Order: sequence, then structure tokens, then C-alpha cells
Amino acid sequence: MNTSWTRRQLLRAAGALVLVPLLPMSARSALSELTGRTMGTRYRVHIRNSTNGLYLPKLKQSIERELETTDRLLSTYRAGSELVRFNTAGTRWYAASPTTLRVLETALSVQYASGGAFNAAAAPLVDYWGFGPQPGYYARNWTQVPHAVLSRVADAEIQIKPGYIRKHDRLAALDLNAIAKGDALDRVATVLNSAGIVDYLVGIGGEIVAKGTGPDGSGWRIGIEDPNGGIRRTIRLDGQAVATSGDYVNYFVRDGKRYSHILDPRSGRPVEHDLTLVSVVADTAMQADAWATALFVMGPDVGLQHAIQNAMAALFLQRMHGDLVEFATPAFQRFSLDTRGIAL
Ligand code: AMP
Ligand code: MG
Repeated sequence: MNTSWTRRQLLRAAGALVLVPLLPMSARSALSELTGRTMGTRYRVHIRNSTNGLYLPKLKQSIERELETTDRLLSTYRAGSELVRFNTAGTRWYAASPTTLRVLETALSVQYASGGAFNAAAAPLVDYWGFGPQPGYYARNWTQVPHAVLSRVADAEIQIKPGYIRKHDRLAALDLNAIAKGDALDRVATVLNSAGIVDYLVGIGGEIVAKGTGPDGSGWRIGIEDPNGGIRRTIRLDGQAVATSGDYVNYFVRDGKRYSHILDPRSGRPVEHDLTLVSVVADTAMQADAWATALFVMGPDVGLQHAIQNAMAALFLQRMHGDLVEFATPAFQRFSLDTRGIAL
């Protein structure tokens, strides 16, 4: 057997390094920057023209409070997080915070709309394949995922009522990593909006929210990295978020085959198609994050069709005959710039 973990796997943060803000050197002096560590990756805030009485250390504190909230509530890595406690709490109604309820509610609606491609209760599968909190543990049976693991996900039957959540199966467990970072980003954006900041870019790992006219007044530009190096596409955002899910960020290779951290809950296996990434632009980072994962699982045919039919802004990158081929929905084209930085 030959199994290896990628260096990037150590980043833990799915999506890191995929989306990069393109900040012209000439405009950098007009930007204030705040940065720090969160959720196994970095967060970065760029604010344009922030000198008007803005006290950055206090802003940084408020931002980090929001990020800490996500970690404290939704981390699957932190013993004692609200999610970890729920996962081990049996089948009774469990009192949950408004943040957890809001994220879970969105997760369940994406789960429904994606026909189960996205699954809020994928934790047993994530653990089984070794992408959970216990590093280095990976599936022992490569051909057949045990029925008990599959049914724990399929029969989780997560329910919500005001203030409470519940699961049907005692061993069912939530994993909201595919959406939690998006919600954190939206809450950081709310902090900035409330402080009266109108021109900013916030990124956590590879997810980004941008608003305003950007560093040189012509918009915030974001590069979508080519998995083979360089920038594949440039988009411009003002008041939207972008998130990316890919099979090359967190995976291991065994006997020459790639096993990605994004799992298809219906087969119980890492996705088998040849998509390498899906980027989604949406009004909120939570939607962008959840749908990037969901469309990635749905794959190049069903996923692309779903995105077009629902007017979603999505970019699919697929490996084909040793090459990478792009498919962008019409809604995604609206955010795209050509190589000269001009709208397509
Ligand atoms: P993302 O990078 O946002 O696509 O999220 C990937 C993470 O979400 C994985 O590391 C798992 O923790 C979790 N996950 C994997 N497969 C799924 C799925 N089908 N539905 C929901 N969450 C998933
Ligand atoms: Mg996601």
C-alpha cells in the first residue's frame, strides 16, 4: 500500500490558496490591512481609505470575536464546541445557539435543494475516510463503505425547532465545515458594515467577500488560481462573496488514485468524477461556500445543469484528456474580467 498526504492537507482549511485578492502595488498604500490566524488558516481584511477616525485595534478585536464564535460553536476539531457536544449528546432535543441554528438551517436547505449531494450530517463519513479530527486515520476498507456508516449519514434526520436541534440516530453527527467559514465571513462583513466601512475585502482561507470600489477605484479583483499554477480567471466583486471547493486542496493518494476530502454522501465515497474545482459567487459567503461544495459533489453534468437552471454564478474546472477545461454559467460571466481586466 502506498498512501501519502499532501502538504496542503496540513493546512486543514479547505479552499486555502485557491482565491487570491489581486492588489496592485501602486494602490497598496491606500489600504489598511488586518490579519491573523483562524480555523487553521489565515484571515485577511483590506480596507480602503480607513483613516477617518477608525481605530483598527478595536476593529480587529471585534473581527476576532466573530471568528472565535465560529470556532467555539461549529468546530469539529475543538473538544467542547457546541457541535461536538451535540454530536455526542444522544437523540434528545438539544439547546443550540442562534448562529448554529442559522447555519444548520441553511445547510439543510442546501442539502434538500441539492438532492442530498450536500449533507450536514456527513461527519461519520468524513471520519471514516480520515478527513476528520483524528489525523492519519483513514478508511480500512477501500471497496465497500460499511452499511452502518452510510446509514448513520442517510438516517440522521436532523430536526430543528426554535432554539433546539435534534438527530434521529444516536451515532449521527454534524460536520458543518463546508459552510461554517462562509457564515464567519458574513459576520465579519457585518462588523465592517456596522463600523461604517464601505470599501473592503475580507478573506478567510480561500473564501472572499468584497464590497466597494477596491484599491484603485476600479473594483476588487480576485484571481482564481489554476491548480497547475498561475491565475486561471479574474473576477471582480462588489457586494458579493466567492468560495471554491476543489479536490486538490485536501486529499491523499493511494496506489496512484486521488481521494478528496469532499465526499458523496450517496455513495459514501470521495467524489469520483474528474472535476477539479467549482467556484461560486453569491450574495452571501454562506451560500457561496455551501453551494461550491454541493455543486462539486453533484459533478460536471448534474451540477452545471443545476447551476444554470437556478441562475447561479458558478465556474467548473474539469480535467479532460490531461488538460483542464472550464465551464462558466452565464451568471458567472457577469463577474469575469478578460486578461486586460475588462468585463467580458
Ligand atoms: P468545502 O471545502 O467548503 O467544500 O468543505 C469541505 C468539508 O466539508 C470537508 O472537509 C468535510 O469536513 C465536509 N464535507 C465533505 N463532504 C461533504 C458533503 N457532501 N456535504 C457536506 N459537507 C461535506
Ligand atoms: Mg464549502
